[in-house]
Amino acid sequence: MNVVVLLGAPGAGKGTQAPLLAARLGIPVIATGDLFRAAVRDGTPLGMEARRYMDAGQLVPDEITVKLLLERISRPDAKAGVILDGFPRTAVQAAALDEALAGRREQVSAAVLVDVPTEELVRRMSGRWICRGAGHPYHETSSPPRLEGVCDLDGSELYQRVDDRPETIRARMDQQLGALEQVIEHYRVARVLRTVNGLQDITIVADAIDAALADAGVTPVVAGQG
Ligand code: ADP
Ligand code: ADP
Repeated sequence: MNVVVLLGAPGAGKGTQAPLLAARLGIPVIATGDLFRAAVRDGTPLGMEARRYMDAGQLVPDEITVKLLLERISRPDAKAGVILDGFPRTAVQAAALDEALAGRREQVSAAVLVDVPTEELVRRMSGRWICRGAGHPYHETSSPPRLEGVCDLDGSELYQRVDDRPETIRARMDQQLGALEQVIEHYRVARVLRTVNGLQDITIVADAIDAALADAGVTPVVAGQG
């Protein structure tokens, strides 16, 4: 089972790279941000709870997040492997994931850090538009859709996230970058950390991720295996 963790600050390009990588590896993406946004949209109790934190740029508490993620990775489509986008975001979440995988005699195969300087993160989030269908991200200048306001991949409508307002972007940086450092350290110690330069064109970053994964021994899932 391939368990690939995509790490990076808010706006680094995880959500852009995750579906491209999923298509190459033949395994699904699980993005906790997308799971939370779906719960908010559906008005579930979990969504109402999560929304308070998301709107303030804060991390949703570990207990809620870990439960949601573990339930999702136990579904049948995650059997051959998963790409995790936006999880783990704290040392507690990283430890909970290790423990759950160890229970199945599995482990994180590789944690790929998409590294981007802070000024560029702010620029990227300020111009970000995502689709209602699956959260596919676009950027008004650096990665526009072919047809304005419409997702290239699934045709759904594009919108700007409420937490991509300038004041919330700053709050997310302040609240989340410290925890990210701890998660990076967790995977450095586990010797599965690989770092790619995220300040390059989307296709070049994708190639760099492939090279990093090959170096970590992660190869595409062949149909019928897993
Ligand atoms: P971005 O890609 O911009 O970092 P996400 O879509 O991954 O944003 O997450 C949006 C928000 O959802 C986060 O700011 C946070 O409030 C919440 N969230 C997502 N994943 C996690 C997580 N693993 N732990 C805690 N909160 C999370
Ligand atoms: P994350 O999921 O890490 O928060 P996203 O994938 O949503 O980040 O990307 C944030 C914004 O930056 C989006 O508007 C996206 O279109 C844009 N973006 C992603 N990768 C690049 C890149 N390599 N160069 C320029 N813009 C990018």
